[in-house]
Amino acid sequence: MTFRATILTLYPDMFPGPLGLSLSGEALTRGLWSLEARNIRDHGLGRHRAVDDTPAGGGPGMVLRCDVLAAALDAAVPAGDERPRFLMSPRGRPLSQALARDLATGDGAVIVCGRFEGVDERVIEGRELQELSIGDYVLSGGEIAAMVLLDACVRLIPGVMGKDESGAEESFENGLLEYPHYTRPREWEGRFIPEALLSGDHARIARWRREQGEAVTRARRPDLLKT
Ligand code: SAH
Repeated sequence: MTFRATILTLYPDMFPGPLGLSLSGEALTRGLWSLEARNIRDHGLGRHRAVDDTPAGGGPGMVLRCDVLAAALDAAVPAGDERPRFLMSPRGRPLSQALARDLATGDGAVIVCGRFEGVDERVIEGRELQELSIGDYVLSGGEIAAMVLLDACVRLIPGVMGKDESGAEESFENGLLEYPHYTRPREWEGRFIPEALLSGDHARIARWRREQGEAVTRARRPDLLKT
């Protein structure tokens, strides 16, 4: 079983984009995950392949039609496909490291990228799309949000990162932000690598890192300590 991502978008050419390079790109080449970007417009209506229409009740912008998006979903997701279906949306539940970790050990996801003012509510209900947000700001489309979700998941797919970099100590994995990192040279512009890290004493290093992680979390993200 490999992680399969199916993206529904009006801009399939945006994919794999940055996901085709570096860690996620190498994993794609190695077949540790796969990506299929499908054009919602293939299911558009009429000669102009229309996918959107004016909002019921008036107001600015356009809304992605429920019938068009449902047709695109039904063509992309065969009956019996149990992968979770997401709609990238600022109204969604916030993306978290815990969700990325959960998904990374599953068989993938179907991800709908919105555009315009958003998506007709009825297709969200009718096709049981889980709305997922990457943060409290508004993007012009769901594509970059989908890439953020996939990037967070793919690096956690077993085999993508080496054992040494399993990510177990990273920010959010233990409810804390990560401790600061250092590498050579030992002195740079009058700044030194902290003594503890050069001590060779593993217990002391672990203690220093935990204290630093706690301090940076207390200073920058006290909300994380509450949960
Ligand atoms: N009118 C909407 C915003 C539409 S933005 C509102 O006020 O809620 C257009 C599309 O960009 C959305 O349909 C969604 O797919 C995507 N998008 C925008 N911001 C996002 C975010 N923070 N997280 C995930 N997707 C987002």
